[in-house]
Amino acid sequence: MNPLLCIAYNSYYDEALTPRRLREQMGTWIYGCDRCQEVCPRNQPWMNQELPVNPKLSARVGDFKLTTILSMDNDHYVNKVWPMTFYISKENACKWQANAARALGNLGDRTHIPV
Ligand code: SF4
Repeated sequence: MNPLLCIAYNSYYDEALTPRRLREQMGTWIYGCDRCQEVCPRNQPWMNQELPVNPKLSARVGDFKLTTILSMDNDHYVNKVWPMTFYISKENACKWQANAARALGNLGDRTHIPV
């Protein structure tokens, strides 16, 4: 495995912009992907459980919409995004925004062009 091609590495560990050759392949992932966690045999007992929807997380969905992330101010980032997703530093909201811009581009929906 080449870790430099990992979606997690490219979406939050590498502080540079995602290399152009990987942007389309990364699709709409903006904060890792964790498929490796989903297929790992050691995780199967947990993954196979029927778990209820987490109401606290469900209530936060709007905070993580791609268009919200792309146009967020620092207050939104520091108080709503960063506390749940601290692999990207508190000072690096632009990494999130670059990921959201790339994901919106990969959706191919031209109504997102203004944002
Ligand atoms: S499956 Fe795991 S190793 Fe592969 S790209 Fe996703 S996070 Fe990275």
